[in-house]
Amino acid sequence: MSSDDQATRLLKQHARTTQLLGVDFVPRYRSSIDAPPAPETTVTESVPRSATPSAPGVVPGGEVDNRSRETVQAALDALRARYEADAPHKAFVTNFTNIVFGEGDPLARLCFIGEAPGEDEDLSGRPFVGRAGQLLDKMIVAMGLSRTQVYICNVLKTRPPGNRTPTPDEVAACKPYLLEQLAIIQPHAAVALGLSATHALLDTTDSMARLRSTWREFPDARGRMVPLMPTYHPAFLLRSYTDENRAKVWADLRMVMTRLGMGTKA
Ligand code: URA
Repeated sequence: MSSDDQATRLLKQHARTTQLLGVDFVPRYRSSIDAPPAPETTVTESVPRSATPSAPGVVPGGEVDNRSRETVQAALDALRARYEADAPHKAFVTNFTNIVFGEGDPLARLCFIGEAPGEDEDLSGRPFVGRAGQLLDKMIVAMGLSRTQVYICNVLKTRPPGNRTPTPDEVAACKPYLLEQLAIIQPHAAVALGLSATHALLDTTDSMARLRSTWREFPDARGRMVPLMPTYHPAFLLRSYTDENRAKVWADLRMVMTRLGMGTKA
């Protein structure tokens, strides 16, 4: 791809982001006097692992990821079967409709993790399909990805009654299955959507203001450290749809893009 094509692609992506998220970060230059400064960083092409189905992915550290999508999906299916047999939610939730296990590319380099299914998710059996999910879709598209190229799941796999925040007991019962899910997928980075998911993953009670915009990490079920970017939940953004909050989320997502080699340095 020529540098002109690459610049056009990036401008289009930025303009689309501006439109979708209301984040005005595209610089405008009035004339040649205001010529843009030379970029400080090289822009790299985004190559999601999922965009190259037959090609092995290169994981951080330079190792080649030779796992096949079918094998990894089969491991996820087996975990789901184990979850259904163990039914850890049965101790505390009885009135759910569907288990919402998670969906997306089993070889995704990026996972989004929410707290628990809401009503729409409970009815459909799919994560993040309600209003918050539609905003999450826009965030994913703004990153230059699609829903099928990432993996989306929750800490709890069933809807807590009345959409209440999961209790510590519920998190303790369900978290091992999430950590196993991540050990199977082996993402290069994860985004925790909201305080509840962030607290569950990091065993902390810090505020989102302190936690977001900084890389954290936690061990998956096999002890592999997963880099984690906490950010605001899309449902929070919908409630507080200010330029400031959208800009914060976009800044967090740009840090993820930079880490995955998908764009300019944030
Ligand atoms: N909120 C979540 O945390 N997860 C979903 O799947 C939907 C809404």
